[in-house]
Amino acid sequence: MFALNLDTEDSRRGNEAGVIIAIDGPSGAGKSTLAKRLARELGYIYLDTGAMYRALALKLLRQGVDLADDAKMAQLVASTSIDLGDNDGKLAVLLDGADVAGEIRTPEVSQMASKSSALKVVRARLLELQRAVGRRGSVVAEGRDIGTVVFPQAEVKIFLDASTRE
Ligand code: C5P
Repeated sequence: MFALNLDTEDSRRGNEAGVIIAIDGPSGAGKSTLAKRLARELGYIYLDTGAMYRALALKLLRQGVDLADDAKMAQLVASTSIDLGDNDGKLAVLLDGADVAGEIRTPEVSQMASKSSALKVVRARLLELQRAVGRRGSVVAEGRDIGTVVFPQAEVKIFLDASTRE
């Protein structure tokens, strides 16, 4: 389905760990379905950036942080670790070391993820955390700014657009 040129020069991207495949595009186009499937077939890490935004949102909700409190936000965001892993073939979303994959798909978390992801301090921290996942190995990364901001040097960039019906 895709022609992958794996003969890459790592120094170009500064990522010595492996290949980055970046999937971008509007919501509802099937980005996560494609990313998950590709990652599984290639044996790459699936970098679900939305899940990382959701994990941070869960922490903000748990701690009842006021998004307008810049000092508190900066301190909380800097002291939060978010990572992705594998839990028996399922995506593990590690918030400060604990798997919260089962708790981040609620409407409250969706809403908080949407609000908090608009903040610069949040995007800057998530950028760091996403690049850290990328340094661990080859990844299929999916999300809004993944091919433009997070991994501009990705070997493969896919912009996926499709109607919901398709
Ligand atoms: O894709 P998902 O619905 O899990 O993403 C949750 C929220 O995180 C999105 O509504 C969006 O506001 C935010 N997000 C983002 N940038 C990304 C991925 C997600 O701002 N790369």
